[in-house]
Amino acid sequence: MGCRVVLLGLPGAGKGTQAEQLAAALHVPHVASGDLFREHLDKRTALGCQAQAYIERGDLVPDEVTTGMVAERLARPDCAGGFVLDGFPRTLAQAVALEQLLASAGIALDVALLIRVSEQVALARLAGRWTCRRCGAIYHTLFSPPRQADACDACGGELYQRPDETPEAHHHRLQVYQEQTRPLVDYYRQAGLLTEVDGEQSIDDVQA
Ligand code: ADP
Ligand code: AMP
Repeated sequence: MGCRVVLLGLPGAGKGTQAEQLAAALHVPHVASGDLFREHLDKRTALGCQAQAYIERGDLVPDEVTTGMVAERLARPDCAGGFVLDGFPRTLAQAVALEQLLASAGIALDVALLIRVSEQVALARLAGRWTCRRCGAIYHTLFSPPRQADACDACGGELYQRPDETPEAHHHRLQVYQEQTRPLVDYYRQAGLLTEVDGEQSIDDVQA
């Protein structure tokens, strides 16, 4: 049986951190719209060029572009048995598009998991986040530091701070979440799919 999970929560709530472990436990791929965009940016594709200014400002990339990119990823064979979606959907239009996409394949979401943290905690987490350029592993200078300051524990890759990791972009992204993404909590609650997790616990406790 497949398992189709959507992760919801403020930027910095811990979606990427939890998604990696959850996907491994469920034997399904971790599909992160932000990672897909960063791959397009690195490869300087047409889609990457289209998305770049939005991402740098901390704005959402337009729905048609985002939904098309995620739909293409979900259509690949490795997602047939399920997926952990991280960072998508982020608008009601995206949630509806996802529902229609899955329905057309005769499937549906199993759960929408909300990782709940305060804005204060989210900002502290975003401020110290470092990401591995090679494998995407996520670290925090205080809460989850790598053994060696500038190298990934898992693969030895270089750690970097994302270009949208500025205090201005962080505040803007929280505001965008409140305006455009928060309504999805009620959307999934009404659909009977919402499960909430206290995200202000240790990484292991949230996972458990
Ligand atoms: P999101 O994907 O929701 O934006 P991330 O998974 O990238 O969030 O986590 C943001 C930052 O917070 C990272 O630096 C990560 O190491 C750290 N972090 C994630 N979960 C926790 C936690 N439960 N406790 C402390 N720090 C955490
Ligand atoms: P993330 O890695 O999830 O924090 O996403 C980084 C950036 O990519 C966001 O700030 C947006 O600019 C863009 N992005 C990621 N997912 C979406 C989405 N579902 N809809 C629109 N823009 C997105």
